[in-house]
Amino acid sequence: MFIPRRRGVKDGVSVSAGMTAAGRTAWTALRLPAAEHVFVHAAGEPFASDDPATGETVATLASSTPADVDAAVASAQRAFAASRWASDGVLRARVLHRFADALRADAARLAELLTREQGKTIHEAHAELHGAAKMVDYYAGLARAVSGRSLVLAPNVHGVVLREPCGVVAVITPWNWPLVLLVRSLAPALAAGNACVVKPASLTAAVTVETLALLAAQPDLPEGVLTCVLGSGAVVGEQLVGHAGIDMVAFTGETETGIRVMKRAADGLRKVALELGGKAPNVVFADADLDKALAGAENAIFTTCGQICTAGSRLLVEDAIHDSFLERLAADVEQLRVGDGLDERSQLGPVVSRAQRDKILAYVEAGRREGTLVAGGSALDGPEHQRGWFVSPAVFADLPAGSSLVRDEIFGPVLTVQRFADEAEAVALANDTEYGLAAGVWTRDVDRAWRVGRAIRAGTIWINTYHHFYDEAEVGGFKRSGIGRQQGVEGLYEFTETKHLNFDGNASLW
Ligand code: NAD
Repeated sequence: MFIPRRRGVKDGVSVSAGMTAAGRTAWTALRLPAAEHVFVHAAGEPFASDDPATGETVATLASSTPADVDAAVASAQRAFAASRWASDGVLRARVLHRFADALRADAARLAELLTREQGKTIHEAHAELHGAAKMVDYYAGLARAVSGRSLVLAPNVHGVVLREPCGVVAVITPWNWPLVLLVRSLAPALAAGNACVVKPASLTAAVTVETLALLAAQPDLPEGVLTCVLGSGAVVGEQLVGHAGIDMVAFTGETETGIRVMKRAADGLRKVALELGGKAPNVVFADADLDKALAGAENAIFTTCGQICTAGSRLLVEDAIHDSFLERLAADVEQLRVGDGLDERSQLGPVVSRAQRDKILAYVEAGRREGTLVAGGSALDGPEHQRGWFVSPAVFADLPAGSSLVRDEIFGPVLTVQRFADEAEAVALANDTEYGLAAGVWTRDVDRAWRVGRAIRAGTIWINTYHHFYDEAEVGGFKRSGIGRQQGVEGLYEFTETKHLNFDGNASLW
């Protein structure tokens, strides 16, 4: 049984635990500040996050009022202006490394809370925790390497090009990978010397607050460098994005929301970094290692139950192997075990909410009308499926190119399969989307891998692999998948302004 760490209740928001009817731990965030939660500014209406496997309330938290948002931003502004944070890379590195250590030390508790709130399998939750810690360590190292360059511009004229933090950064995160996607913005923003105000997705607010508490508890973190506001995007998110005290918005979420965020940020000419939706093609050529490609195709679409921006949701298969590959895929999909994420045997958990389930099922219904259901898509009526938001994975073939299943980001375990005759058609189909976040290419022909990899317009192209991310390598979107890059060194410099100090040592101005 999972026993959460006990917390002292002082004042602000604290998360305490009791047992629910199902024998699980219920987390209740009270509006009573605990020492480790004073960074959360939220004194408004309560809201709950639910367990998508059971429908039970996992946590009850409070929304931020307009005054809370003002206070969080003001606190971050003061910290940015007054503390050593922006100018002391050693301090930033130390705090971030210790945060990473704390994440690893608390991984079991947080992974369980993550599964309870988000629904993902406990295996994936552990992977997310450790991935988040690894990424924080990566940016902790880079905190001491924020550097510019010097230029000799003319006789007696020198330039020094500096990288300076932007100031106060609003970090707005989605619910699907709430911790990795949190630190993917937060860690480089802090490493570069910014102060941050985090607004997590409400569905995964408790696990985000608990994670941030580990950072806030670092004794060397100057007060106000990290603050957090809670509540709906439409109210709290909008206020934050439009706040005069915000210098930059790092947003991860849906494309339509990103467009709205960008328009609102434009009123204040605020810098934005946008990581948005996707509809990734996964292209399998006949000469590929087909065993590996099959595993890759499944991993591409079924990770996080398809609720991942890089989901390889459009499988493109060369004519010569199309039917046999599809047959093998269908046999595997029929065997997938869908269940409670806390059950170690589950390969797919529930989807995150009733709304998400209903949206996915509507696409499955449309797919039945428009194409051929090759595998899955059946009703889930086991006793473990009665109370939660479970969806049977589904594979469709023979859909018209204009089908909504082929074009829309479904964000669920729904795979469409299209056939292609040659490389040119494969590239044309791969690029026939308004998104450009990621793609997969499976072939043993190195020349073709280069050609196709260069021809597909997307930020990440996996060749003979899928869904392997490296902190060192940039990710981001072409087209409607985003603006800017995260991870890697570019991900650090997204959170900086470039300044040129120009020194003229000549006697005369002319
Ligand atoms: P969402 O756009 O609904 O919400 C994301 C965040 O924005 C939440 O915190 C939400 O409260 C907030 N928000 C909503 N409306 C807002 C507004 N008007 N102003 C400011 N903030 C607002 O997205 P979601 O449903 O949480 O996440 C799923 C989406 O995120 C998918 O489209 C997925 O592709 C995308 N995503 C992209 C990446 C990437 O790296 N490109 C990664 C993960 C998820």
